[in-house]
Amino acid sequence: MPFTTRAYAASAPGGILQPWSVERRNLLDSDVHLDILYCGICHSDVSQVNQEWGPVNYPIVPGHEIVGRVLRVGPGVTKFKPGDIAAVGCLVDSCGACSACKKGVECYCAKRTPTYNGKVTTGEQYTKGGYSHDIVVKESFVCRVPDALHDKLQGVGPLLCAGITTYSPMMRHSMNRKGARIGIIGLGGLGHMAAQFGRAFGNEVTIISSNPSKKDEAERLLGISNFICSKDPEAMGRAARTLDYIVDTVSAPKTMAMYMELLDVGGVLVTVGLPPHGTEIKIPPSALIFQQRSIAGSLIGGLQETQEMLNFCGEKGITSIVEVVKMQEINQAYDRMSRSDVKYRFVIDMKASGTF
Ligand code: NAP
Ligand code: ZN
Repeated sequence: MPFTTRAYAASAPGGILQPWSVERRNLLDSDVHLDILYCGICHSDVSQVNQEWGPVNYPIVPGHEIVGRVLRVGPGVTKFKPGDIAAVGCLVDSCGACSACKKGVECYCAKRTPTYNGKVTTGEQYTKGGYSHDIVVKESFVCRVPDALHDKLQGVGPLLCAGITTYSPMMRHSMNRKGARIGIIGLGGLGHMAAQFGRAFGNEVTIISSNPSKKDEAERLLGISNFICSKDPEAMGRAARTLDYIVDTVSAPKTMAMYMELLDVGGVLVTVGLPPHGTEIKIPPSALIFQQRSIAGSLIGGLQETQEMLNFCGEKGITSIVEVVKMQEINQAYDRMSRSDVKYRFVIDMKASGTF
């Protein structure tokens, strides 16, 4: 039988999130029912609640960095059993037949279903995300959480979006090489994950931040001492042609051309930050041509690679550095995130939040 569970939803653009009831479907053959333990708060949640990327189907229940305990499984489920610790990221379905799905990069399927605000069947039904006590998801879109991370579950949810969104382009562009010089623009949720992967790969990591106070913080919390303040033209000038790669995680519009100058010959900038709809990237062709530079983009990652990333995090002991909040504190968390004031990811503790 379908069942209702409690959640937090926004019912209008810019509106506050408040308690809501959502219906979860009856368990299908290949479905997994998760009792949600933690859910991370991604900047994409804030952007979509505020309808920055295009039309949203309200009420919207955000949340795509989900960790939970398996409560029930459908009769056809083979990977999970009740009691297992599992995780769900940004997608809950895809067509399974297109070239992207066949390549295992379901995130590029034109018919992919996002974990929230995704069209399910009729024009009236949309997926509802992880700011909730329960979720029902098709087995093939649920990942295993390695045993080594079971005692660090608060920091695991963000791996499902912030983690895979940075790991995937770093692997695709072969940044996992000892000594590769990697710059990370924006020290927030995605940025601090890229920094941790960079350290695990043996990269020479440089943080490029608009906030000079993050210099000491990066050294203390991430062990990274190379720091450039993007608002300091002299420091930016001194760093010209010192990087092999840049991972851009900034959520706001910016002057991309000045960052391209930091790349050495043949350097690649991968942008993953997604500013409001209508934002354009402006780069003079000479900034690319004369140093053989490239610019690329990347969206989350496929399911197989997400599992690979989780396994890598298990081996290396990598989790997100988090500030744990209760569901009832969500609006203050959004407010702080909008001001880039979070070290480095808010995570909602569902059990500590009571029944709401
Ligand atoms: P976040 O924690 O808020 O971090 C974003 C960082 O961007 C901030 O910490 C800040 O870093 C920088 N920033 C923000 N406003 C700025 C401004 N006006 N000028 C310069 N820098 C500014 O956000 P997040 O969760 O990491 O997400 C980052 C972006 O990636 C968002 O746009 C999000 O929607 C997007 N995203 C994309 C994907 C994908 O698949 N491509 C997946 C998830 C998220 P400093 O203070 O260090 O400058
Ligand atoms: Zn996200």
